[in-house]
Formats: sequence, C-alpha cells, structure tokens
Amino acid sequence: MSFLNLFRKKKATAPVNRAPSYLSGTAKTETGLADTRAAIDELSKAVKDTPEAVEIYLALGNLYRSQGEIERAAQIRNSLIVRPGLAPVTKARALYELGRDFSRGGFLDRAVSALKKARDIAGDSPEILTELAGIKARGREFEKAAYYHAKLGQPVQEAHYLARCAEDDFSDGDDVTAYSTLKKAIDIYPSSTESWLLVLSRLKKDNKLDEFRKKFREALQKVPNHLRFVLVEGLLAESTIFGDTPTSVAVSDGDKNISFYEVMVKEIEVSDPDVSMHYYGARLLQLCNNQEEASVWLEKTLILNQNFWLARLELFNLAQDQQQLTPSFKNQLDFFVNIAHKIKRFTCSSCGFKRDRIFFVCPRCRSWHSITFRKELNQ
Ligand SMILES: [Zn+2]
Repeated sequence: MSFLNLFRKKKATAPVNRAPSYLSGTAKTETGLADTRAAIDELSKAVKDTPEAVEIYLALGNLYRSQGEIERAAQIRNSLIVRPGLAPVTKARALYELGRDFSRGGFLDRAVSALKKARDIAGDSPEILTELAGIKARGREFEKAAYYHAKLGQPVQEAHYLARCAEDDFSDGDDVTAYSTLKKAIDIYPSSTESWLLVLSRLKKDNKLDEFRKKFREALQKVPNHLRFVLVEGLLAESTIFGDTPTSVAVSDGDKNISFYEVMVKEIEVSDPDVSMHYYGARLLQLCNNQEEASVWLEKTLILNQNFWLARLELFNLAQDQQQLTPSFKNQLDFFVNIAHKIKRFTCSSCGFKRDRIFFVCPRCRSWHSITFRKELNQ
C-alpha cells in the first residue's frame, strides 16, 4: 500500500456556503480565492488550539502551497518534522510534502534533498519516486529521470528519457553512446516512437539512405498504428522533436531530402496505411514534386474518411491552380485558405489540448503518447 493511504480520509463534503452559480467567471475566481484564504485562516486557528492535529497541519501546508506561499508551507512541514516523538511515517509524509513545496517554488536541490530523506524512511514509495522523476526531468537530468521511471516500472517514460539522453549525446558529438542508448530504449519499450524518430532523423541527417530504409520499415511495424504519423511529421520537422530542445535548424538540401521522401512513400505504401498515413504519403509526394500521384493519395484519404478536412484543403489547393479566378475572388479565397492552414492539427485524446507541433507527453494533462491527428474539424 502507498504510504500516503495512511493519511487519506473519506472525501470532504461540499461546503454549504459555496459561491452562487450565477456569478460571472471572474467573480467566481475571486470568490474562490477569498474562500481559500478564509479556509486557511480557519485552519490556522484550529491547528493553534490542537497542535497534535497532524492531518490538519499538513492540509494547511498544502493550502499555502496552492496559493504559492511556499515559505509558509515549508515552515509548517519543518515545525512538524522537528516534533519529538513523531511517528516515522508522519515524518516521511511531512518530508514528502516539503519536497513538493520546494519543487513548486523552483528550489529543485532542496526538493530532492527532502524527498530523499522521505525515501530513506518510507522506501521506494510510488509518490516519492514520481516526484523525484519529475524534478530530474525538469532539471534536464534525463538519465536520472529514466532511472526513477525504471524503478516505477514505467517503460514508456523510461524509454522517453533515455531518448532525451541520446539527443544530448548526439549534440555533444558522442554518436556511439547515443545509438547504444537508443538501442537500450527500444529494447525496454519497442514501440518508443520518440526513440525510433531520433534514430531515423539521425540516419537522414547523416545521409545513410539504405539503413534509413531498413529502420523506417521496422519503425512502421513497431510503432502503434495510431502513432505512425508522428514519425513522418517528426522527420519533416526534425529540429523540434522534443519541442523545448534548442537545436540548430538543419540546412535544407532539396535533392538529398527527395530521395528520403521517395523511400518513405514506398515503405508507407506497403505498410497498410490508414487515413493519416495516406495523407502524409501525399504530402511527401508533393515535396517530391509529384503532384499527380499526390492527388491520387489524397483522393484515397477521402475515400477512407470523407470528413478529412486537410486532404480536402490540399486537393482544393491543387485544383485552384487550374481555375481562372478574378483577383477579388482569389483574394477572398486566399484569406480562408490561410486561416485553414493555421488550424492546429494535433490533439490530446485525453484532455482535448490542441497543438501544431508533435508532443509525447501532453503539456496540459501530462498523458503519455495521447497525441492524435485531427482528422475531422470537430475533433
Ligand atoms: Zn492532455
């Protein structure tokens, strides 16, 4: 059992004097803040009268933390930690919350120190390991983040952070270590989309076409069908695989890229492509200046899903060049086509977050590999 369960009580009942629902959004937020502050004051009084009320004490600290008052929150934990005769499990809990306070305040070293002390008492509790993994990831200590996710038995996350180690190794010019780290990541989690993507983008960058073909075929088999589009999207925008990683934009080399795109189209064709992969096949064909074949692939996309808006947009673009349009009509049309091109193409299947760049962990709800391609506009 998690050591936190010892502290979990049944759910609190809803407060009676909640803000009336007819208040506007802003008023609701302000009332919410006032409610929280009032609750903090009430709790402070209660704790003063009954200093043994550990549960209330910790809850009070959490309230301060939620208000961004880190110093006060930390004071509460520390006053608890030094109490004589405190049960070890309570001390561990106070240290754990202290670690979370520091983490929230951005004092990562102090957070790690508190959490390690909690771990010394409570052992490898999932809550403590999760906090430590998160802090290490934030501090770009990816090897340590991978280590904690391994302890947690989370291969998706472990492989992700190993891939990020590999990316750093590539930047440092240590390709041997990078490739061996990526191999390890794929051994741990064979579907690791980001690891495959990193291998592929490196082979492409180093102009190793034959090896690229082999690995691209393997990746299309290993990566789950609904995530295969991430490989192509990532290869088309290789400078931003992990979003927050600053990398130099590759010098574009048209002719060199075209041979890679042709290989990709061929491999996609024999990989039982779904709607999104047909669309990406068409995009690659367009980049190879094969507009005719691209139209065929786009038509196939629409046969599979007639609401696939992006395929319609591309077909419309291709058809537009063959029409005689008045300047005014063309002007209006360009306006709408421009807007349509700015629509965010990816969405998180867990929370609906939308973005125009690939992501492996949702920036909003922290779900892993929850990215989907927005095939329909109402998605
Ligand atoms: Zn999400």
